Amino acid sequence: MRYLLMFLFVSTLLADEQQPSIAHLIAESEAKQALVERIRRADIQVTDNQMSYDVIFYHLDLFPDVSSKILYGDVSMRAVALKNGLEKAELDFLNNMVVDSVFFNGQPTSFEHVNNLLTINFDQVVGKNSQFTTRVVYHGKPSQSGFGAFGFDTHFGKPMIWTLSEPFGARNWWPCKDAPIDKADSVDIRVKVRSDLIVASNGNLVDVSEKNGFKTYFWQERYPIVTYLVSLAIYPYSTYSDWYVSANSDSMEVQFYVLDGYMSYAKQQNAKTVSMIETFSNIFGEYPFIKEKYGHAQFLWGGGMEHQTITSLGGYGEGLIAHELSHQWWGDMVTCEDFHHIWLNEGFATYSEALWWESRSGEAALHQDMAAKAYLGDGTIYVENPLTDNIFYYQTTYAKAAWVLHMLRHVVGDDIFFDMLKTYYHDFKFKTVNTDQFRALCESVSGLDLESYFDQWIYKSGAPFYEYVWWHEKADSEDEWRVMGVLRQVQYPHPVFEMPVDIQIKTKRQETTVVLQNNQREQPFEFVVKGEPETVHIDKNNWILKRVSQISEPYFTVRTVSVTDDKSRPLSAIAPGTTAHITFSLQNMGTTATNVTVRLSTDDADIQLNTSRIDVGEMRPSGEFTNLDQPFIVQATEDARDHLAFLQISVEYSGGASLPHEFYIPIGSPTLLIVDDDAGADYEKYYPSIAVQGRQFASFWTVAQQGIPPLDTLQSVQHVLWFTGDDSVSTFTREEQTLVADYLSGGGHLLISGQSIGYDLVEDGDEQDVSFYHNVLFADYKPDIISDIAVVGLPGDPVGDGLTIRFEDLGDGAGNQNRLRELLPVEPAVQSFFFLPSRKSAGIRYADSVSGARLVYVAFGLEGIEGPKETSAAELLSQSIQWFKQIDTNSQENSSTLPTDFIIEQNYPNPFNPATTIRFYNPERNQVQVDIYNALGQRVRTLHDGLLETGWHVMSWNGQMDDEESSASGVYFVQVRTNSSNQYGSKTVKMLKLN
Ligand SMILES: [Zn+2]
Repeated sequence: MRYLLMFLFVSTLLADEQQPSIAHLIAESEAKQALVERIRRADIQVTDNQMSYDVIFYHLDLFPDVSSKILYGDVSMRAVALKNGLEKAELDFLNNMVVDSVFFNGQPTSFEHVNNLLTINFDQVVGKNSQFTTRVVYHGKPSQSGFGAFGFDTHFGKPMIWTLSEPFGARNWWPCKDAPIDKADSVDIRVKVRSDLIVASNGNLVDVSEKNGFKTYFWQERYPIVTYLVSLAIYPYSTYSDWYVSANSDSMEVQFYVLDGYMSYAKQQNAKTVSMIETFSNIFGEYPFIKEKYGHAQFLWGGGMEHQTITSLGGYGEGLIAHELSHQWWGDMVTCEDFHHIWLNEGFATYSEALWWESRSGEAALHQDMAAKAYLGDGTIYVENPLTDNIFYYQTTYAKAAWVLHMLRHVVGDDIFFDMLKTYYHDFKFKTVNTDQFRALCESVSGLDLESYFDQWIYKSGAPFYEYVWWHEKADSEDEWRVMGVLRQVQYPHPVFEMPVDIQIKTKRQETTVVLQNNQREQPFEFVVKGEPETVHIDKNNWILKRVSQISEPYFTVRTVSVTDDKSRPLSAIAPGTTAHITFSLQNMGTTATNVTVRLSTDDADIQLNTSRIDVGEMRPSGEFTNLDQPFIVQATEDARDHLAFLQISVEYSGGASLPHEFYIPIGSPTLLIVDDDAGADYEKYYPSIAVQGRQFASFWTVAQQGIPPLDTLQSVQHVLWFTGDDSVSTFTREEQTLVADYLSGGGHLLISGQSIGYDLVEDGDEQDVSFYHNVLFADYKPDIISDIAVVGLPGDPVGDGLTIRFEDLGDGAGNQNRLRELLPVEPAVQSFFFLPSRKSAGIRYADSVSGARLVYVAFGLEGIEGPKETSAAELLSQSIQWFKQIDTNSQENSSTLPTDFIIEQNYPNPFNPATTIRFYNPERNQVQVDIYNALGQRVRTLHDGLLETGWHVMSWNGQMDDEESSASGVYFVQVRTNSSNQYGSKTVKMLKLN
């Protein structure tokens, strides 16, 4: 806070001329939010009882004792019942304050004081429309942390008492119905202080009396006021006054209370206050509290607080003074009914600063101030949940909300906009308001339907990012030209913004502004102008909160790619040896391109390109091209493996080329089964992109709809990914445990992902669940929830190496990883991942050399992974599968003399019956022999013996021996032998046949 204050002081010294200083607003927003944080957990809802009465009047009798720092209070409330049979009144009042006695209609009565709520019991029932009074005598040290709500402080060694109660802090120091929706009609504030102290407060000072070394100040606020605006500022202030003369020639005092050490600077800066009151009274309507006063009471806090008739100021920047003064109209006179709609206070005050600069220095100053407040990021202005969200988020509540008014002004025009403000003043004077009411008022004044305007700017996130391209041609009439173009909105994934957009067209003769009613993602425009056009600008004068860029070269986008057979029927995959037709649609989003050529390419050895080039010729802006009548034709090789083949479409033109567009074609059958076992949640939506980015051809099984998958479904693919989301009840049922155990003992490859499996099986499970966890998954579990947000793979680990994984809810992942717990390996499993910074185990793996089983189990859901690279979930999948495919090092090897890039993959399915497939890569054209051996090392079958070409080769073994007898169950080996540099070498894979 000291730092903040010093910083503000320096910045205001520099701010004599206008500069885009937003520091005071950020200070205000941050400090106000600190108060919200502090009481966030308290019950701050308006209770049903509180909705049953309406406050008329409060009387506060206070004695803040600066020596003991105890506040003594005696607060009365007069209210009217809104329903029959009212038996009690509930007041907000924090528990740490001690209630000494309570009165109802002048008589002592009983009360309860729990959960920061003081319940006053009535000894007689109050009927509808009847008035009653309550009185609470109390004392205590008002709780304070951060910046609020009641401070016993010192400045230059002298006591300084201040308050700041917005949004929910009045209850820290006086009992009240602490909700903006119920304004009291008036408030009396009587404060006893040591006689050297001066009390500044709301309304008029009607009396000061002195007795026994103490003074009592009596302030009366006779205009309606909300509780968070009731304030005290107490110090041996130096004071002086100025005078504002209203349109009716009434003189109103403007009072300044200045702390020691600031007088000359304060006088210099305060001097503008009266002309600001004049300016705002002219624009909005007369200063609302004209029969009382306005004033500044300096206090020890960065920024300012718009206490009614007496702003508390921590600095003297001109923008800050204008901001807090304008709150007297917008925030104090008209108050948001609750903090969902706080923008109706802060957005108005922030825009009022710009209005002040405009009136002082002209239109350029208005735009300069607004440019400094442009915010293009995410977050809604409407506060979804005032109990948990940041109410005073500077970028939305202040800056973007000011832009909503600025843009509205341009949409309706100056006359209507300022008419709206005057009507708003008139219709809502001394009332509370919400966004819908303000919108309805704007609609009735302007005659426009503004529903989509308010919806997109107040309730939705983001701002338009425009791109445009333009060109021109000669029109028929003399010296007339046609300007054509396309305006595009590219703020994905945010929806289209509907706004009137100014387009400035400058020709050799003139500059014209035309308006495009823009309501499409991509909207063409055409205007006829006099003179040959030279430049076209979009919203040159910055009336829209936006980003804009002009496209000045060809710019191609591939819109769709379809893979079909030769009858244009869509193909979900192509079989080895068959062909497919590829059609695409291409659009030029930029300027005219000539000699356009489209090429298809791939480095996938299993794909042959029968056609790979199309000459398109010229493409105009917005022009589209599709190759329906001349599709690219591709063919999968006879021995193509099951996988996703990736291809690229690229565009070349005279003078440039576009970035390639990548797409994929599934070849053969899926190699990965993704088991969706998230108890009916929709996390499966994250997995297709994880699989594609991980280069895996996946099929899906949804347990919630299809039941538990049969074992042979699992064994029909090479690998299984099983995810449980954030299910913590039915992660692995008994039946699923049997399935997983069978799958693994048969040599399955399984990746398990889920945050609550250990909790479900160990914490909540029986003996058998625990046994499955320990003896099948080889996992152990720790119940403590880990607050770490990162997971790192163990260096050198075949699955974890190089992976860094984060779970912050950045919007890409599911944001569901909030119950992470430690997952430990049980022998023979080993650790593959750990959490950071705690370094606790986060993932394990194990391999069984007899069955060939491989398991990777991570203590988190892949769907929740955020990055740092958004591809890290795909990388985890891909590295797991690479490890699954590696040959078990325990099997017989003699590969030292083989070329280093000779590859043999694990057979699949495995275990098998009767047939299985072996796939290997031969790095050079050579003699190759492929043999099957039994567990005794006897050769039972030769699959190949002869010359083989370079590349991938797939061979099947039907399980028969050379004599065509069926082989027995058990372990077999496939050995591939080849020679390199005239030396034979071999690689061997172990297989399991089940009969
Ligand atoms: Zn403000």
